[in-house]
Amino acid sequence: MAGKSRLTRLLNSYSGRMIGGVLLLHVFLLPFLLTKVINLIEHSYISQFVNNSRSDAYLLSDLVGSTSDQERVRSYLNEAVLTSRVEFASYKGRVGESISLGRLPERLVEDFSFASHGDKVYQIIVPVFDPQAREVAELALGYDERPVELDMSQSRRSVYTMMAVYFTAMLMFAIFFARSLARPINQLQTLTRYIAEGGYGKLDETVGIKSSITEIRDLSLDLERTRRQLLEQTSKLEFQAYHDSLTRLPNRLLLEDRVEQMIRVADRHGKSFSLLILDLDKFKEVNDTLGHHVGDQLLGVFANRVRRSLRNMDTFARLSGDEFAILLSENDRKKTEKVIEKISVLLERPFTVDDQNLQVSASIGVAIFPEHANSYSGLLKCADIAMYHAKRQGKLYSMYSEEMEHLDVEKIGMANELRNALKHGDLVLYYQPKLSLNGNRVDCVEALVRWKHPRKGILVPDEFIPVAEKSQLINELTYYVLDQALRQCHQWQQKGLFLTIAVNLSARNLLDESLLRNIRILLDQYQVLPDYLELEVTESMVMRDPALAQKVLREIIKMGINVVMDDFGSGYTSLTQLVSLPVSVVKIDKSFVLNMFKSREHRAIVKSVIDLSHSLGKLVVSEGVENQKIMAEISEMKSDQVQGFHICSPLPADQLEDWLNKTDYRIGEMPIEKYREQGQYSV
Ligand code: C2E
Ligand code: MG
Ligand code: MG
Repeated sequence: MAGKSRLTRLLNSYSGRMIGGVLLLHVFLLPFLLTKVINLIEHSYISQFVNNSRSDAYLLSDLVGSTSDQERVRSYLNEAVLTSRVEFASYKGRVGESISLGRLPERLVEDFSFASHGDKVYQIIVPVFDPQAREVAELALGYDERPVELDMSQSRRSVYTMMAVYFTAMLMFAIFFARSLARPINQLQTLTRYIAEGGYGKLDETVGIKSSITEIRDLSLDLERTRRQLLEQTSKLEFQAYHDSLTRLPNRLLLEDRVEQMIRVADRHGKSFSLLILDLDKFKEVNDTLGHHVGDQLLGVFANRVRRSLRNMDTFARLSGDEFAILLSENDRKKTEKVIEKISVLLERPFTVDDQNLQVSASIGVAIFPEHANSYSGLLKCADIAMYHAKRQGKLYSMYSEEMEHLDVEKIGMANELRNALKHGDLVLYYQPKLSLNGNRVDCVEALVRWKHPRKGILVPDEFIPVAEKSQLINELTYYVLDQALRQCHQWQQKGLFLTIAVNLSARNLLDESLLRNIRILLDQYQVLPDYLELEVTESMVMRDPALAQKVLREIIKMGINVVMDDFGSGYTSLTQLVSLPVSVVKIDKSFVLNMFKSREHRAIVKSVIDLSHSLGKLVVSEGVENQKIMAEISEMKSDQVQGFHICSPLPADQLEDWLNKTDYRIGEMPIEKYREQGQYSV
C-alpha cells in the first residue's frame, strides 16, 4: 500500500509527470524515428551501390566491346574480378566464344533489387556492343553485396548508439530540469504551508526563492508580498486583540499578561510593584449631557495625557468605560504616591474637547504586590475596593487596607439600619432659609435630611443618601422627607408662618410613576397649597434621561409646584441647554460661589449663570454664601436669592423658629387671600 501510494505520489508530482512525459514521448517516437533514419541510410547505401555497380558494368561492357581480341577481353575481365568488388565475370559472345572468371553461380539471373536470391551477390547482365554498335556479346557481372551490408549494419549500430545517447541525455536533462523546477516549487510549497499555518513569529522569515525561472521568481515575490501583508494583518489583529480601540491603550487581556509576568519577575527577585485602578468621577454625566462622542473624545485626550506622564516601562491600560489601570514596575508606596501626585497635577488642567473645557476628577485605588495580594485577580480586587473607597470619601486615592472590605459589609448593614430608621422615624429634617435679596425676606426654607444614628450620632445626607439610592430605599426616604416637610409646613401655617418648603429629589424619584400621585395625596392630607412646595432637582439627574425628566417636571409645574435646578454648573449641562429645561429657578452650585474670590473663572461662571438665567426669565439662587464678602459680591451680581452659613446654617424646626423670631429679615407674608380664594383650606 505504502509502495503504491508512493508511486502514485511520484506520478502525480511535478518531476514524475515531467520524466514520465519524456519517457512516454520517446517510447512512441524513438522506434518510428529509428526505422525512418535506418531506412534512409540503407536506401542511400543500396542506391549508391546499385548505381556504382551498374555504371561500372556499362563501362566494362564498353571497354570489352571496343576490342575483338579475346585475350584483351579476358584481361579486362580478369582485372575487374581482381578488384574485391566483382565476384565473377562471364562473357558470352554471339558466335559462341565465352570467358568465365571468378565464382560463377549455377544460374545467371539478373538481380533487380539488392540482396535478392539470397546469394550475397548482385548480378548484372549488360549487352556488349562493337564499335559499329552491333550487339556482339552479353556480359554478366556479380558484385559482392557483403561490404554494403557490413557498412549498413555499422551505420545501424551508430544510429542505435546515437539514439541511446540522445535518449539518456534527454532523460537526464528531463530529470535535472524537473528537479531544478520542482525544488523551488517545493520550497515555495513548504513556505506557503508555513505561512498558512500562521502563528506569530512563523511569518518572520523573508520569502526569497532563488530561481532563474521568471514564473517561479514572480510566485516567490507574490508569496513574499502575501507574507508581508499577513504579517501586517496579524500584527494589526494582535494589536486589536490586546488593545482598546478607542484609546489605543492596552486592554484587560494585555494588562493581565503583564501583571502575571511582573508577578513572576517580582517573585524571583523579591521585589514589589503596584497596581492602580483609576476611575473617572461623574463620567456618566459627560456622556448623558454632552453626548457619547464628547465622552469618547474626553477618554482619548485623558488617556493621552496620562500616558505621556508615565514611564515607558509602566503599563497604562483601559479596563472598561471610564475605568483604567496603571501597572507600576518596581514601586514602593513612596514612588506610587509620587505617580499619583503627577496624575493629580495633570487633572488640574481642564481637558479641551469640542471647544469645551471639561474639568475631570478621578478616584484611584492602589494595591501592592505582594503586600496586599499575590495574584492578578487578587490585586485587581484590592485596587478596586480601594478605588471605591476613595470615591466614597471624595479623595483622589486610597491605598488598599483590609478594613475597607469590612466597610463594604458595613454599607450593606447601613441599608438595613436605614430601613429601620425610616420605620422608627430616626430621620429628622433640618431647614435652611433662602433669603430673597429683593426686600430681604425669607419666604422659603430648604429641608435637608439628617439621620440621628443611635451609635454614630447625626449623619449628613452624603453619608447615607448614596446607600438609599443603591438599596432602593430612596423612594421611601423621599416620601418620608416630603411627609415630614409638609407636616411641618402645615404646623407652621397653623402658627401663621407661611414658608415655602424646598425638598430635594433624587434621580430615581423621577422614574417613580406614583411620585405625582403621592405628592398630591400629601398636599391634600396636610392641606398645603402646591405654591408652598418647591422641588429641587440636580442637573445631572435631569440629563440622565432628559425626555422623561422634562415630562415629569412639566407635570409637577402644571400642579403649581416650583422646580429648582439645584447644583447648577457642577455637571456638564451647557448654558444653552437651560433654555429647554422647564424650571423657573436656577441654583448655582456652591463650589462656584465658595471659590468666587479664589478663582476668576468661578467668578465669571457665577456672573454668567446669573445673567443668562435672568435673560431666560428664570430666578437665580446662590448657595454657599458663607461670608459677607461673598454676600456683597453676589448682591452686586443681582442674584435673586442667597443661601448659606452666612445667613443661617441648616437648623432643626424649633431652632429655626427661634432664628426666625430673632432675625431682622422679613419673614414670608401671610397669603391668607390665597387660601380664601381656594375656599377649601381653613386657616
Ligand atoms: P443641596 O441640596 O445642594 O444642599 C445644600 C448643601 O449645602 C447642604 O448640605 C447644606 O448644609 C450645605 N450648605 C448650605 N450652606 C452652605 C454654606 O454656606 N457653605 C457650605 N460649604 N455648605 C453649605 P447637606 O445638608 O449636607 O446636604 C447635602 C446634599 O444632600 C444636598 O445638597 C442634597 O443634594 C442632598 N440632600 C439633602 N437632603 C436630602 C433629601 O431629603 N433627599 C435627597 N434626595 N437629597 C437630600
Ligand atoms: Mg438642594
Ligand atoms: Mg445644592
